[in-house]
This record gives sequence, structure tokens and C-alpha cells, in this order.
Amino acid sequence: MRKKIISMLFCVVLLFSGLLAGCTAGEQNTNTGTFVLGKAPKYVFMLIGDGMSAVQINAAQVLNGNNTLGEISTNNLLFASFPACGMATTHDSTSFCPDSASTATAMSTGYKTHSGVIGMAVDKSTPVTNIAELLKAEGMKIGIISTVTINHATPAAYYAHVASRSDYYGIALQMAESGFDFFAGGEISKPTGSNKDQKSAYEILKEKGYTIARTAAEIAALNASTGKCYAIAPNIQDSGSMTYAIDRQEGDISLADLVAKGIEVLDNKKGFFLMAESGKIDWSCHANDAMTTIKEVLDFEAAVQVAYDFALKHPDETLIIITGDHETGGMTIGYASTGYDTAFNILNNQKLSFVEFDKLVKSMQKADSNLTFEKVMPVITQYFGLKLPSGNAEADAADPLVLTDYEVEKLQNGFTQAMLPSADREADEEYALLYGTYDPLSVSITHIINNKAGLGWTSYAHTGVPVPVYAYGVGSELFNGYYDNTDVFHKLCTICKID
Ligand SMILES: [Zn+2]
Repeated sequence: MRKKIISMLFCVVLLFSGLLAGCTAGEQNTNTGTFVLGKAPKYVFMLIGDGMSAVQINAAQVLNGNNTLGEISTNNLLFASFPACGMATTHDSTSFCPDSASTATAMSTGYKTHSGVIGMAVDKSTPVTNIAELLKAEGMKIGIISTVTINHATPAAYYAHVASRSDYYGIALQMAESGFDFFAGGEISKPTGSNKDQKSAYEILKEKGYTIARTAAEIAALNASTGKCYAIAPNIQDSGSMTYAIDRQEGDISLADLVAKGIEVLDNKKGFFLMAESGKIDWSCHANDAMTTIKEVLDFEAAVQVAYDFALKHPDETLIIITGDHETGGMTIGYASTGYDTAFNILNNQKLSFVEFDKLVKSMQKADSNLTFEKVMPVITQYFGLKLPSGNAEADAADPLVLTDYEVEKLQNGFTQAMLPSADREADEEYALLYGTYDPLSVSITHIINNKAGLGWTSYAHTGVPVPVYAYGVGSELFNGYYDNTDVFHKLCTICKID
């Protein structure tokens, strides 16, 4: 026992000395990503994966890694190699499981506030200035991008001040008043207000001088001489958001495309601040759909690549920050029934998101009033690879995609509930645990395929685990260490020389 404790202590000492050595090396690094003292960055990228913490990132690294026994290795994302990495706590003044409004406000303004509040202090009435407004006042151009609606909580925290994130119309009006130079991504949520009786926010944006581009050709035509503009991706999928990467068709616009366009529109001699959010990592984690989440993370990485390529061309004057606002879903690698094993290769059988699968089943149900589980099962096999047992026990045991009796029952129960009108479903605790507010069939399918792969979920909401913060470029060293999400703002102010 004592021997064990001593060897554990030795390991801890080794670990700490390793970490310290890493820090020292980081500060002395004179290659790429150096800290140029006395100079603020001209270009700042703040790239946020909503709902993205270490597990979402590592799940993507595992899926793309080597899953062969004896050769296990991750295939790390680009930002994992950034010279600085820290950890940020995400609680807000209401909860250790915070929401996007308060966490984005913490990062954009340095203030903790209540869940649901955007750009206001904890009294819910005092507007607090955000980093984008401060940098705008310094003469920089400002760009705000989100794959979900542009007046959703995270992007709004970089231009709006409202007591409630549900005040979509109020947020849209502040977007029009912001004077910011580039908005892009999803549509405006509730553009004519909750009662649909207000003047269209799109019209107000036009009156305020914004060019609104809605087609690929119109977006392609935007450039540095366009003036203030708002690019809405033509590929809109659900609730005004852009298509999930897993469902995207050729020619559809991606987050990476919009970051590239943002750079083109914003580039000027005084520099720019560009906040880009991948908002649907969060949405697919709420729904406990791991493969859709992983594809979103990889798509987010493609957007980081665009910023990184720009930074390589503008060394010593660019800063890139990558983080999440909070974790969503309580995603973890490892599951009760798979123990120490993982089999992420199984996930590659999933060909669409839960959203598209739900649409598919709804259309089948519409066309066939006697839709049975037996009729839906081939579609489940087609899009997720999962199979009913063949009867040959040996062959079935060797095929990881064959469902166990327990899993078949789970799927059948999910199907039965899914066929009922929402009002007729069992509104008990077990139902809430099994399906949350999601379609009982698709969430059963993703749970089963995720669990078979060795991946688990604990929640349909946000969790309280800290998020990693990666940084590259001017001042990036400041993002090493363990701190609070409000410090992201303070560190940015220090680096950008704002009081
Ligand atoms: Zn969020």
C-alpha cells in the first residue's frame, strides 16, 4: 500500500514537472504563435463550439484515429497543436449547469449573470460592454457568424443587451443598430416579433444600410467594398439554422466558407474581430446524437483551419481563440455495458442526423397509417447499420451491429411511443429519462449505436464540466492555465490593450 502511494506521488511530481516544462517551453517558443510584447493583435478570431468540451473534441479525435487493437491512437484536431491551452470554468450566477446566454456574456463582457440573460449584469438591467463593441471603438471591423440563428444567445452576446434571450425581436433590432460590419450564418429567429405583428427585422437591417445576401451567388459577390452586410446561408435545415455537416449536399455553404467570406469582407488596415460560432454541436448533443456531433466538430475544425491559414499569412499580428461555452449532454467516452472497450468504427454506419431521420419516419407515417416496426427496421439498418438478430447465434455474436434482445425491445418501445401523438405519450419520469424531449425512436437509435461504440450520455441539457481554451498567435500564452470563463474577456482586453 505504502509503496503504491509513493509511486503515485512520484507520478504526480513527474506530471507537474512535465506541465511546468511545457509552460516554460511555450513562453520561450519563438517559432509560430509567438507572444510579441508591446503589440496588440490586428486580427482576432474568437471561434466557439457551442456545447463543446474535451469529450466532444476527443470523440472526433478517436473516430478519426486508429481504432485497431494494439495500435490505438487519436488523430488530433488542428487546434490541439496550438501552443497555448487552458481550462475555463463555466458556471453562471444561477447554476453550475449554465446556458449559452450567460456563458457567452461571461466571455464577451467579463460579467457573470443569470442564465438566459445577454449582455447585462447580474441585476438583469445594467448593460455591460462587450469585447466586440470595445474593439469596434478602437477602429476594428467586426464580424459575427453563427450556424444557428444570428439572434441566438451566443452570437447575440457579442452585440446585444437584453434581460431575456427569448426577446429575439429585441435582439434583432440591436443587431441592426450595432453598426457591425459582417453578419453571417442562419436566419433571424422571429423577424416580425413573437406575435408576428412587428416591422420585419430584415427590412430594418436594410434601412440601416445592410446588404442582405441569401443565395450562394449573392454571398460570393460580397467583398471588402460591399459595406455592412448579412449573409444568410441558403441551406437552412431546422429552426432557421444551417444544415448539419452530416446532411450537407454538394454546394451547400459551411461555417468554413463563411469564415473565409468574413475575412474577405472585413480585411482592412485597422484589422478586425471575428466571432464565429458552431451552434449545432450543442443541438446534436442535446439530442444525444454522437455521430452528428462529431461531424459538427470536424466541420468546426475546418473553419479553424481557415483562420489558421490566415494567421500563417499574418504572423505576429493575429490571435485565434478556440473554446466552448459549456458542455452539453454529459457526453463521455466509455459506457456501462462496454467497460474498457470502445468501437467507434461502428459510428461510421450512421449516414444522417436525427433531424433528417425524424423527417423520414414522419413521411413514412404520413404515407402509411399502419406503419409497423418491421417496416421501419430496414430504414434503421440503411441509415445506422443496426440489424435484427439473424437467428445464427455465432454469426450474430461476431457482428457488432446486430442488436441484442434488450436493444430490440428498447427500439420497439421507442417506435411505439414515436407513433403516438405527443399528447398521448407517457409523461412520466422514465419517459423523460429515456427520451428527453426528443423523438423516442431516433433517440433510442442514437443511444444504442452510441453505447455499442462505447459512448455514453448523462443529460439532454448542459452540464457543469469546464471547457478547454486553445489559443494561437499574439498573446496566446495568456490562455494557458486554469481560470474562469470571465477571464477570457479580461485576457483579451489585456492582449488588445483595452482598459
Ligand atoms: Zn451554448
